[in-house]
Amino acid sequence: MSPELDVAVVGAGMAGLAAATELARAGLDVRVFEAAEQVGGRTASVRVDGYTIDAGAEQLSPRGYRATWELLSRLGIGEHEVPLISSPIAMWRGGRPHAGVADARGLLTGAGLSPLARVDLARFQLWLSRRRGEFDTDDPERTPLGAATVAEFARAYHPDLHDYLLQPVVGTFFGWNTERSAAAVMLSLLLAVGDASGWRTYRGGMDVLARRLAATLDVRTGHRVHQVVSTGQAARLLVGEETVTARAVLLCVPAPVAARLHPGAPEVEADFLRACTFTPALKVSCLLDRPLAPRHGPPPYLLLTPESEDDVLSAIIFDHQKHPDRTPAGAGLLTLMPNAATTARLLDLPDEDVITRLATAAADYVPGLAAATRRTFAHRHPLGLPEATPAALGLRSRFMARRLRPVDYAGDWVMLRPASEGAVRSGALAASRVLSRLRAPLSIPIQARSRRVETA
Ligand SMILES: Cc1cc2nc3c(=O)[nH]c(=O)nc-3n(C[C@H](O)[C@H](O)[C@H](O)COP(=O)(O)OP(=O)(O)OC[C@H]3O[C@@H](n4cnc5c(N)ncnc54)[C@H](O)[C@@H]3O)c2cc1C
Repeated sequence: MSPELDVAVVGAGMAGLAAATELARAGLDVRVFEAAEQVGGRTASVRVDGYTIDAGAEQLSPRGYRATWELLSRLGIGEHEVPLISSPIAMWRGGRPHAGVADARGLLTGAGLSPLARVDLARFQLWLSRRRGEFDTDDPERTPLGAATVAEFARAYHPDLHDYLLQPVVGTFFGWNTERSAAAVMLSLLLAVGDASGWRTYRGGMDVLARRLAATLDVRTGHRVHQVVSTGQAARLLVGEETVTARAVLLCVPAPVAARLHPGAPEVEADFLRACTFTPALKVSCLLDRPLAPRHGPPPYLLLTPESEDDVLSAIIFDHQKHPDRTPAGAGLLTLMPNAATTARLLDLPDEDVITRLATAAADYVPGLAAATRRTFAHRHPLGLPEATPAALGLRSRFMARRLRPVDYAGDWVMLRPASEGAVRSGALAASRVLSRLRAPLSIPIQARSRRVETA
C-alpha cells in the first residue's frame, strides 16, 4: 500500500512550519502534527485582557536572520509589522541600571563595565573583527575556538567581561551556563546578529510569522505523535490512537523529544541527539495597570541582572517598551526571568510559588510593582534552549553528513543556534534534504524513470 502522505511533519514550531512551507511549495502532500492547541512552539504568544504576552521568544534582528526575513517578505509581512525596539538594554550594577549593552552606546557609557574592562572590551572587539571571516553560524564547529567554553574564552580578558557582559547576555538570551556552552557558537551568533540597537519585534506578538505560515498549511493541532518507525523507504507514525504513513517524516521537535519518538535512529543520529541537551526556561508575566520603569535612568526595554548582583533574577523585560501594542492604552507589562539556578529550583513548583519568588525579587528594581499588578502568569519551557556544548559541537559535522533517510530532523538544535532563525534555517535545510531524497532518480518508480530517460 502506498503511504498516505508525502511528508508528515511533527511539530508546528518555526522549524516545522518553515519546512512544511517549502515542501508544500514544491507540490508535495504535507501534513503537520502539533501536540499543543496552538502553533508557534517556543515563539508562541498568549492574548489576555488586551495584553499580548510573548511566552517564549522576544525579538529578532535585521541581521543574522536572513531565512526569517525571506519568509516574511514572501508572505508580504513588511517592516512596519516588525518594528524597531527603540529602548536600550541596561545592565544592573552598583544599585542602578547602565544603558547601552551590546550597543555602540556601550563603548561610550561602559554599560556597567569598569574603565579597565572597557579597554579589554575594545581588545576583544578588535580580535573579533580581525577574525570575523572564521565565524559562521551555519558551521560553528569550524571556528578557531575549538571546544573552549564561554567561561574559558572569557579568562583571557578582564573578569568584568564575563561577569557584566558575557554571563548576563548568554544567561538571559540563550539560557546558558557559561561553564557548559561553547564560545564558538556564542561568538558566531553575536557577530551575525550585531548591535542590539537594531533589534525588532513583531507588532502583533512573536507568533505572527508562525500563525501566518500555518494558515497556508494542513496543520492538525492537538495531535500528539507518540512514535515514529522507519519502514525502509517510508515511515509510520503513531498519532494519538491512529497510525499514519508517509514517504518522509520530519521530526521538528527538540532533540530529546526526537530521540524519544524515534528510538530506532541510526547511531550517528542518536549520538548527536543525545549530545544536544537543553536548558529549561521560565518566565513570569505581570500584567500592570500602568507602565512601570526601574528607579533610575531612561526606561530600558530589558534590564539584565547579572549573577554577581542578583541570585534570583536574570532579567526583567519591560514589554510595554518593546512595543506599545503589547498592552491596553496606558497599561504596562513586565516579564520576569529567573537565572539558571533559580529556574532549576522553581520549574516544578506551583505557579503561585514561582510568581511570589520572582515578583519579590523584582520589587527591588521596579518600585510599585505589587500595587500595579493586575494578573500574573507563569510560562514554563522544560526544553527551553539548546545548550550547544563542546560535546554537541564535536559531533555535529558527522550528523550533518548523515545519509538521507525516511526519518529526518529540523529544529534550532540542528544548527546549535538558540534562536528562531536557527529553527527556520534548519527547516529549509530539512526540506531540501527531503526533496532530494524523494526526487532522486532511484526513488522514482521504474516506469517513470524510463519515461524520464526517453524524454531527456
Ligand atoms: C524563553 C525563551 C526566549 C527566547 N527568546 C528568543 C528571542 O528573543 N529570539 C529568538 O530568535 N529566539 C528566541 N528563543 C528561541 C526560539 O524560540 C527557538 O529557537 C525556536 O522557537 C525553536 O523552534 P523549533 O521549531 O526548533 O522548536 P519548538 O518551537 O520547540 O517547536 C516544536 C514543536 O513541536 C511540538 N511537539 C513537541 N512534541 C510533540 C509531539 N510528540 N507531537 C507533536 N508535536 C510535538 C511542540 O508543541 C512545539 O510546538 C527563545 C526561547 C525561549 C524558550
